[in-house]
Amino acid sequence: MKKGIAASKGYAIGKVALKEHEEIVVVERKIENLEEEKARLQGALTLTREQLEKIKEKAEVEMGADKAAVFESHMMLLDDPEFVGAIEANVEAAMVNAEKALTDVVDMFVGIFDSMEDEYMKERAADVKDVGNRILYNLLGKSMEGMGLLENNTIVVAHDLTPSDTAALDKSKVVAFLTNIGGRTSHSAIMARTLEIPAVVGLGNITKSVKDGDKIIVDGIEGIVILNPSDDQVEEYLARKAKFEAEKEELKKLISVETKTKAGKRIEVVGNIGQPQDVLKVIENGGEGVGLFRTEFLYMDRETMPTEEEQFEAYKFVAEKLEGKPVVIRTLDIGGDKKLPYLPMPEEMNPFLGYRAIRICLDRVDIFKTQLRALLRASAYGNIKIMFPMISSVSEFLKSKEILAECTEELRTEGKAFNEKLETGIMIEIPAAAIMADELAKHVDFFSIGTNDLIQYTLAADRMNEKVSYLYDPMHPAVLRLIKMTIEAAHNAGKWCGMCGEMAGDEEAIPTLVEYGLDEFSMSASSILRAKQIITNM
Ligand code: PEP
Ligand code: MG
Repeated sequence: MKKGIAASKGYAIGKVALKEHEEIVVVERKIENLEEEKARLQGALTLTREQLEKIKEKAEVEMGADKAAVFESHMMLLDDPEFVGAIEANVEAAMVNAEKALTDVVDMFVGIFDSMEDEYMKERAADVKDVGNRILYNLLGKSMEGMGLLENNTIVVAHDLTPSDTAALDKSKVVAFLTNIGGRTSHSAIMARTLEIPAVVGLGNITKSVKDGDKIIVDGIEGIVILNPSDDQVEEYLARKAKFEAEKEELKKLISVETKTKAGKRIEVVGNIGQPQDVLKVIENGGEGVGLFRTEFLYMDRETMPTEEEQFEAYKFVAEKLEGKPVVIRTLDIGGDKKLPYLPMPEEMNPFLGYRAIRICLDRVDIFKTQLRALLRASAYGNIKIMFPMISSVSEFLKSKEILAECTEELRTEGKAFNEKLETGIMIEIPAAAIMADELAKHVDFFSIGTNDLIQYTLAADRMNEKVSYLYDPMHPAVLRLIKMTIEAAHNAGKWCGMCGEMAGDEEAIPTLVEYGLDEFSMSASSILRAKQIITNM
C-alpha cells in the first residue's frame, strides 16, 4: 500500500499504464547557417501552436472553457517576444542549435518562477516546462502523445501530468491518475477534479513501484493506492465504489430541489465564482444563485484595467445566466495576496493588514466608480446585489454608498437603465465588523461572513502560513461567537446573513451554522450538492 495526497474523490480498480517521460539529453551543436536554424525553430513553433490549438479544442469540450484556458496561455507564450526572442538571440549569439538555445531559455524562466514564493507563480514554471518540452519534441521530430492505445480501466501512472498530457488522454479508458509529485492545487489535481476522475498525487516514487499491466486499486478519498490487491480487497473496493457512485447519483436528484430543512426553513445554497463562465458549473451543480463573485479575477492576468464596458458585459452575462436568481457581486478586493501588474503597490510589512480592498477603492475613486457604473448598468438584466469587502466601520460603508449614489445620479442623467431597488451589503471579515454588527446592520441590506479572513484576523494566524495552520480553526469558540453575533445582529434588524468563506462548504460546520440561523451558504460548485443533502436531512 502507498499513501499520497487525495486529489480527486472516488475509487478505481484497473491496470497500470506507465507514462514515462523520455529524458532527452540536449547536445550543443555549432551551426553554420543562422537563417536555416531560425527557420527550423519557427517551424517547430508553428507545429506546437497547431498541436496546442487541437488540444485546447478537445479540452474545451471535455473540461469546459475555463480549464482549457491554460492552453491559451501556453499559446501566448509562443508569441511572447521575451520568450521566443530570447531563444533566437541565444541561437545567434552563440551560433548554437535551436534545441540548446531553447533549453537554456526554458531553464532560466523556470528558475525565475520556481524561486517565487507565490504558489500561482510556481505553477507557471510547470507551464513553461510543458511548452518547452513540446517545442523540443517538435524540433527533434518526436511525438509527445506516445502512450499508445489504452485498454479499458486504465490507471495512468506518471511522474507528473502536465495540462497537455492530461487533456490528450483518452477519457473513455482512463479511470484514475497517480503521480509522484504535486499537491492538491497542482494542475493535474485540478483537472482530475474537473473531469471527476479519482486521483492520488505526491506519491513519491510510484512510477518505480509499478509496471505496465499491474493491477491496482486507487482510493481518491483516503489518498491510498493498493498494489496487486487480493481478491478480498478487490471485492471490498468494488463495494465501496458502487456505494460512492450510488451516493453521487443520489445527490443529482437534489439539483433542482429548493433547499429547506426538515422543519421547513428555507436556506439558500449558492456558489462562489471568479470568472463569469464559472456560473455554468454552479447552475449544473444545483446552485441557487451566486453568493460571491470575486471580481478581482477580471482585473488579473492582463496589462490594463478592464473598462466599464468589459465589466458590464461580464456582470450582465452572469446575471442573465441565473435567470432572476440572486448574484452577489463583490467590488474589487485587491491587495493582500492578490496583486495587479498595472497598479503599483508599496511593499508592505503586513499586506493582509494593509492597503487592500475597500481601502484602495475609497482612495482610488476613479477605479471604484468604473466598476460601480458597470455593476449598476448590469443590474438592469438580473438580480444583482453589490457587496463591499473588508468593511471595518459604518463610515466606510456610508462612504461607499455615497460614491454609489454619485454613479446612480450620473446614469440617470445619461438615461441609462439600472435597478433602483438594488440591495447593498458588506462582508463581515474583520473582527471589528462582527463586534459592531448591530450598528452596521441598521445600514446594510445584508451581511456575508468572510470566514477565510475573519478566522485569520481573530486568531492572529496567517491564512497562507502552513506553520501556523494548526491554529487556523473555524470551530474555535471565539470564531463561532463572532459568527453567531453577526447572524443575530442581522436578524434583529430584519436583514439576512450569508457566508462565503470556505467554512460555508465545510461538512462538519454546516449543521452548527444552520442552527445559528445562517440564511445563505456560498461555496465552490463541487460542494453544493453535498451541502444541499446535509441541510435537507437536518
Ligand atoms: C473570505 O475572506 O472569507 C472571503 C470569502 O474572501 P477572500 O477569500 O476572497 O478573501
Ligand atoms: Mg476576504
